[in-house]
Amino acid sequence: MLTLPEKILFLLLAAASLYYAYTGFRRVYLAIRRGRPEDRFDRLPERVGRALWAVLTQETVFKRRPLVSLLHAFVFYGFVYYLLVNLVDLLEGYFPLHAQGGLWNPYNLLADFLTALILVGILGLMLRRYWVAPKDFTWNPKVPLHEGVRQGIPKDSAIVGAFITFHVGSRLLSKAAGLAQEGPDPFQPVASALAQALAGLSPSALVFIEHLFWWGALGSILLFLPYFPRSKHIHLFMAPLNLTFRKEKPGALLPLDLEKEEEKFGAEKLEDLSWKRLLDAYACIMCNRCQEACPAYTTGKALSPAAILISERYELNGILKDFAAGKESPRPLMDFALNEEALWACTTCMACVEVCPVGNEPMLHILDVRRAKVLMEGEFPQELNNAFRGMERSGNPWGIGQDKRLDWAEGLSVPTVEEKPNPEVLYWVGCAPSYDPRAQKIARSMVEILNASGVDWAVLGRREKCTGDAARRAGNEYLFFQLATENVETLNQVAPKTIVTTCPHCFHTLANEYKDFGGQYRVVHHSEFIAELLRSGRIKVSEETRKVVFHDPCYLGRHNGVYEAPREVLKGVGLALAEPPRSRERSFCCGAGGAQFWKEEEPGAMRVSQNRYLELKATGAEVIATGCPFCMAMMNVETAQDEKAPEVLDLAELVAKGLKA
Ligand code: SF4
Ligand code: SF4
Repeated sequence: MLTLPEKILFLLLAAASLYYAYTGFRRVYLAIRRGRPEDRFDRLPERVGRALWAVLTQETVFKRRPLVSLLHAFVFYGFVYYLLVNLVDLLEGYFPLHAQGGLWNPYNLLADFLTALILVGILGLMLRRYWVAPKDFTWNPKVPLHEGVRQGIPKDSAIVGAFITFHVGSRLLSKAAGLAQEGPDPFQPVASALAQALAGLSPSALVFIEHLFWWGALGSILLFLPYFPRSKHIHLFMAPLNLTFRKEKPGALLPLDLEKEEEKFGAEKLEDLSWKRLLDAYACIMCNRCQEACPAYTTGKALSPAAILISERYELNGILKDFAAGKESPRPLMDFALNEEALWACTTCMACVEVCPVGNEPMLHILDVRRAKVLMEGEFPQELNNAFRGMERSGNPWGIGQDKRLDWAEGLSVPTVEEKPNPEVLYWVGCAPSYDPRAQKIARSMVEILNASGVDWAVLGRREKCTGDAARRAGNEYLFFQLATENVETLNQVAPKTIVTTCPHCFHTLANEYKDFGGQYRVVHHSEFIAELLRSGRIKVSEETRKVVFHDPCYLGRHNGVYEAPREVLKGVGLALAEPPRSRERSFCCGAGGAQFWKEEEPGAMRVSQNRYLELKATGAEVIATGCPFCMAMMNVETAQDEKAPEVLDLAELVAKGLKA
């Protein structure tokens, strides 16, 4: 037990520590509240349940880097238990409580065991960061970074590591000094072993050590508490919150209220971001896992999703007092978190969102800035102008006349909604299969399948327009609004029971984004549709025996969770399916999304498509199967430069080839 002066001193220090910690946390709270409103409070009990599950199982952490995640889990589970341990230690300091023997035995055993695990975990993590020093913690020199980051992160990590080691190590020493006086405790084997090393010391020295390290253990918390709001360690509180408020489909963008004339659209400065984006910055543990997964960064571009969030956090740290008080932030995001190259390198593949252990959504930060650039400043890569103009004037980014939209169907039996006003299935063809000569073959194959299935179907024909996906991902919400409104009006007149698309971008937009414009539809990707036809026996195919590898399109897989159907189709055709190292949730982008298809790729070490193609080819597959006309086009850029290239075919083409009458 502590002496009376010690008790008084601890109380005074605790009061000071709590006051400073409260001030810091309150500022963080006020800063986050400055973000724009965004409704993330629906299904709250379910959200909380999911977040709790993710935190307690550490499932989002274990998605990647298993060894590091294990070390982190040691520290995490240890610290959860230490909430109780610290409380008991505090009570032992203030009251004549002796937490040993009887029911305390299992408590002590677990505390002793977890103490050792925390020390192993934190020392392992520190060794990795400072001795192994993997590339994970570096950025390529092109990446724009807040000026405080390069020095700030190693310093912050050292402080956090030192605190954990000192806090837990002190408790172990304090316990060991106690046991050296009382004799070993079989329920505290680690502390007892250490007690043996202290056995030769005098009783007064042991009492001194016991007290000193009690202070080391609990006093270090008081010292560290006010530092929390500045440190990445604040993720202890922010990560569970962030996981609670993450979106089920982050890629389904929210519409802007374009009627508000005084409104500033998109995000130019920190205060233009929504509160969830500001929370992201506070939840970020600066692990760079998103950077590792990012196709732009992997291929040497200036974009690092981690750098954006980390830079935002460092900027917030620097201006927190004023920002929390409601003052305007001093500089735009483009001055410290992004630059033009980084901004326009994003393919919106969502790999950064999928991999983030704390539920951050870096992709949405980028899209907010794109919106501000396009809508407020009219600044965007000039190549996008052609696509924008084409969508605006001709209803497709190619800019080919709307009257030619059905030319791909020449010679085929393709009913339009004029001929079949209420089709059971509406085949939404999309712009690429309508106008791109290679992709037209996908549409023609789809027609063969639809006709063979006996399903009642039709197309919109010349009434179909671009969904506006590329315009939206490029930040041109005006144009997206125009196209979405027109398409929803048409679709609501036709009122199809099911819409089938051969393009995951159309699929995503129609299924997830048109509902904000009054269009609620049942939309399926053609892989799901064909899989069902095969399952129900409505179509039969002769089997072929080639080896195939499937490239998961980002907007089918990560954005919408469709992984099984394409594989079911390929196996249904009898193909031997190979999996590339990065498949399903980990699939690597082809490089077309996020409007990249309509502009020059930002400068880097290699093309995104090249990186992906080499991986797919290395599986030894004779066929690269795709489920997206844009992925197909990107792969064909690569096969055109490779004499021994595998064939690139869409799922529909593979099925149509084997259709039995
Ligand atoms: S969405 Fe994809 S390309 Fe964009 S930042 Fe995230 S990982 Fe990188
Ligand atoms: S955004 Fe997520 S994945 Fe990226 S550095 Fe931060 S915590 Fe890690």
